[in-house]
Amino acid sequence: MKDNFSAAPSRPAMILAGVLMLLMTAAAALLLPYANQPTAGSNLRPVLITALAVNNSIIAYLILLHFYVKRRPATGLLGAAFAYSALMAIYQLLMLPEVFPGQQGLQLGSHLSIWLWFARLAGFAMLIMLAMLCLAWQPKPPLSPRLSSGFLLGCLLLALSLVWLVTQWLPPHLPDLSRLVSQQGDYRALRDSGLPIALLLSWGGALASVLLVTRLRSAFHCWLALCCYGYLLYLVLVFSSSQRLTVGWYASRFFEQFAATIMLGALLFEVFRLQKRLQSSYSQAYETSIRDSLTGLFSRRHFDSALDTLRQRPPEQARPFTVLMADIDHFKRYNDSFGHVQGDDCLRQIAACMAQQLRDGDTLARYGGEEFIAILDGCDELHAAQIAERIRCAVEQLAIPAASDAATQAAVVTVSIGLHCQPAAALTAEHQLVELADKALYLAKHQGRNRVCRLSGAALPTG
Ligand code: GH3
Ligand code: MG
Ligand code: MG
Repeated sequence: MKDNFSAAPSRPAMILAGVLMLLMTAAAALLLPYANQPTAGSNLRPVLITALAVNNSIIAYLILLHFYVKRRPATGLLGAAFAYSALMAIYQLLMLPEVFPGQQGLQLGSHLSIWLWFARLAGFAMLIMLAMLCLAWQPKPPLSPRLSSGFLLGCLLLALSLVWLVTQWLPPHLPDLSRLVSQQGDYRALRDSGLPIALLLSWGGALASVLLVTRLRSAFHCWLALCCYGYLLYLVLVFSSSQRLTVGWYASRFFEQFAATIMLGALLFEVFRLQKRLQSSYSQAYETSIRDSLTGLFSRRHFDSALDTLRQRPPEQARPFTVLMADIDHFKRYNDSFGHVQGDDCLRQIAACMAQQLRDGDTLARYGGEEFIAILDGCDELHAAQIAERIRCAVEQLAIPAASDAATQAAVVTVSIGLHCQPAAALTAEHQLVELADKALYLAKHQGRNRVCRLSGAALPTG
């Protein structure tokens, strides 16, 4: 059952959901004896329905956005369920006599206001069940981007046409429901009719479908189940009273708002999780893009951009830096004697050894096969030559046995290093800087390898 809401619920989320469920049940049980008690104060019905319309609109929007990204049909239908509830709440609000007292056209008799209330709750539960049914049957891959736009439109049309059906088409065919609620707001007759059972069955069905289909395998579905449970408590409380604006009647409205708040919280948390995942994927991808996979050193591309940044420093921040190029001596022979796997291992050891000799701010990259390049920021030529010599010695001291058949070369693997210093004042082209370091390296090779060379001076003494 995959609709791509976040993976398994975390333990704290499950505990929180459980605690909230117990608190909701306890609050409902405590309120039940006072359900019929009238409340002092003004009628808050328009405010409560407005809050419901706003909350459910935001929830629908967030769920449909989620559908737009993940393209799972069940998510689209769930969005339609909340959109339907929001639209019905808006319609109900406009029809309240308290909202437009003078507008006869907009007012409804108690006949239709009961119907709207019933149709909002029952339709909402049915659409949640439909979404769960779709989740149970939906094909594994998400919808194609083209199909998903159509499906999104379809979901919105479904919500709208249901609203039209229950507000425009059905009312003339309905039996007279006005006797169910008196002018004074007594709804004892409603309580004794079949409507409460129908609503309890609808929301019981919605809760059961969420539990059965999702088995609460994701945090979002836990919260959706808790939302359905909130609606069941809402019904229990509203029908434990028989008069509008009583404790039970208000408390039931609180549960309805609370159910919406739970969904909002769950969706915002989902957005936060997605953002966190996105952030870590981005960091991972970025780290991979700037690193060489074999040695873990920076890639050549990163070296180029680091060099570019240094070259383009504003004059007041300019200071000398040195480009240092190193190449393993007779590495072809090493590979030929010991094989490429051991050759790779040798490359890794030398890379790690070189990195150890540099400061954190220096940039060390793998330039090519067995060539490495470094930028030593703030280092003049003399200082850089000392560091290069330190690197050369450290590699030698690794004492990796060199190819055995070479009588003319050192017994251990060594590196030759060429360096070129860029004075603070001059602005040499990027490729020229590397070229000059490469020329110095060539000189080191030419002079017998295992040494450090700079173009402006003689080779430093080895060992
Ligand atoms: P020199 O002292 O003149 O640098 O001699 P060399 O043999 O090191 O130079 P050459 O450029 O002829 O050979 C470089 C060798 O490095 C050739 C290639 O097999 C090896 N090499 C390049 N990349 C890799 C790699 O990723 N893994 C391994 N194992 N070997 C590599
Ligand atoms: Mg080479
Ligand atoms: Mg080499």
